[in-house]
Amino acid sequence: FIEAEKEGKRQSNGKIVLATVKGDVHDIGKNIVGVVLQCNNFEVVDLGVMVSCEKILDAARREDAQMIGLSGLITPSLDEMVHVASEMQRLKFDLPLLIGGATTSPAHTAVKIDPQYDGPVVYVKDASRSVGVAQSLIEPGTRDAFVDKTRAEHKRRREQHAGGKRLRPQVSLAEARKRRHSTDWSAYTPPKPAFLGQKVLEDVNLATLREYIDWMPFFNAWEFHGQFPAILSDDVVGDATTKLYADATEMLDRIIDERWLQAKGVFGFFPAQSDGVDDVLLYRDERREELAMRLCQLRQQRNKPDGHAQLCLSDFVAPAGTPDYIGAFAVTAGIGIDAHVARFESDHDDYSAILLKALADRLAEAFAEYLHEQVRREHWRYAPDENLDNAALIAESYRGIRPAPGYPACPDHTEKAKLWSLLDVEQSIGLRLTESFAMFPTAAVSGLYFSHPDARYFSVGKIDRDQLVSYAERKAMSVVEAERWLAPNLGYDPKSANAA
Ligand code: SAH
Repeated sequence: FIEAEKEGKRQSNGKIVLATVKGDVHDIGKNIVGVVLQCNNFEVVDLGVMVSCEKILDAARREDAQMIGLSGLITPSLDEMVHVASEMQRLKFDLPLLIGGATTSPAHTAVKIDPQYDGPVVYVKDASRSVGVAQSLIEPGTRDAFVDKTRAEHKRRREQHAGGKRLRPQVSLAEARKRRHSTDWSAYTPPKPAFLGQKVLEDVNLATLREYIDWMPFFNAWEFHGQFPAILSDDVVGDATTKLYADATEMLDRIIDERWLQAKGVFGFFPAQSDGVDDVLLYRDERREELAMRLCQLRQQRNKPDGHAQLCLSDFVAPAGTPDYIGAFAVTAGIGIDAHVARFESDHDDYSAILLKALADRLAEAFAEYLHEQVRREHWRYAPDENLDNAALIAESYRGIRPAPGYPACPDHTEKAKLWSLLDVEQSIGLRLTESFAMFPTAAVSGLYFSHPDARYFSVGKIDRDQLVSYAERKAMSVVEAERWLAPNLGYDPKSANAA
C-alpha cells in the first residue's frame, strides 16, 4: 500500500541511511525505527549490522540520502559513533546525524559526538521519536529552528557535564580499596561445586526455557513501559499489548513445535581466589598452584558516605587461605535464527522478523535464568532445596549473582575474551564475538557466577585515572587502549590528563 501510494502522487519525505555500527550486532530497535519511518513515507536504506564507517558514508553519498542514523547497543559502539561523526567532518558532510540505541544518551551525544561534527547531531530517544525528528529536519520551515534548539540543548548539557564533574567527589583508588566490602572469611566456608571444569549443554528444551521468560523486557523492546501482566489490561495500551502478547505466544508455540531455534550453553566451575586487591585469580588445580587467568575487576570510586562499601566483584571471593570457586557461563538461544529471519524479510514481513528476534532474546535470558537455577540447586549445590516461581526468579530473590561483562558491575567488554578461552565457547556452542566483543548470534548471555550470600549487582560508575592506570597494567594493555574500552566509565578527561 505504501509502495503503491509512493508511485502515485506522493513524493517520499526523504531518504535516510540506517546502520548498526561496526562491531555491534543488535538491531531490533533500529529495525523498528526503519519500519516506523517507512510507514511515515521516508525511504529507508538499511545497511544492517556491523557496518563500517566507510560503508555508511559511501552509501549516504551514493544514495544521495538526507540523513544518517546510527544505532548501537554495547558501550564500544559509542566510540565508533564518535569516529563516524569525525569522519563526516573530515569528508565535509553536512547531513544530519541521528544517534540511537541502548547505551547512547543525550549526554554522550552532546559531550562526545556533537563537538566532532559541524552538521546537526540529534539524539533520538526511541523509535516513536524518530518520525518527529526526521520530519523537523527535512521540512525547510522547521529545520533551522529545530537545529538551533538542538545545538543549544547540546551546549547546555556540555556545561552541565563540566560542572557536574566538580560536584561529584571521587575517592582515590587506595582509599576505595580500604573501604572494600569486608567479610570475616575465617567464619565462612565457600561451597564446593559438584564438578570442576566445563560442561556443554546441547539442545536444551525450549518448552522448559519458556517457563523462565521475563516478559516485561519483551514489551520494552516494543517501547511499552510498565509491569507485566498488568500492562495487558492497561487502559491506554491494553489492546495493543494483548494483541502483541497473543502474536508472541503463537510464534513461541511454532518456534518450539517446529524447532526453529536451538539453545546451547556451556558452563563450568574453577578454583578461585581474590588477589586481595581487586582481581579474581583462577587456577587450573585445586591446590591453586597453576594460575589459569586473572579476571580483572573495577572498584567503585564515587565517594560513598555513611560507611557504605566501595564495591568490587572480587570482594565476594575469598582471598588465599580459604579455598573458593567461581563459575562461568555462556548461553545462546539464537542458533538457527538467520534462516527464519531471512524468510520473513523476503516476505516483507518485518513485524514477524522483529518478533522472532525479540523472542529469541527472551529465550536466551530465560536460559541464563534456568541454568543459574540448575547451578544453585545441582551443580554448585549451595541451594539444593530452592524452589522459586517465575516472579521470584525475575526478582532475583536467590543467593548468588551472574554478572555479565559489559554490564554495570563489570563494564569492560574485553573481559569476555577470557570467558571465551576459559569455556572454549566458540568451539563448544558456536557463539562468537565481534571485534567490539558483542556476541553473535545476538540472542545470548554470558557471565560469571558468584556464590557468596553478600554478592549483589551494583554499578562501578566513574573511575579515576589512578584506577585506569592500574587496571591497564593488570590487563597488559596500554593506557590509551584501556581508556578507549572504558570510555563511558572515565571520570576524567583522558585528553587533558594524558597531556599533563
Ligand atoms: N531478567 C532480565 C535480566 C536482564 S539483565 C531479562 O530477562 O532481560 C541481563 C543479564 O545481565 C543478567 O542475566 C545478568 O547476567 C547481568 N546483569 C544484570 N545486572 C548486572 C550488573 N549490575 N552488573 C553486571 N551484570 C549484570
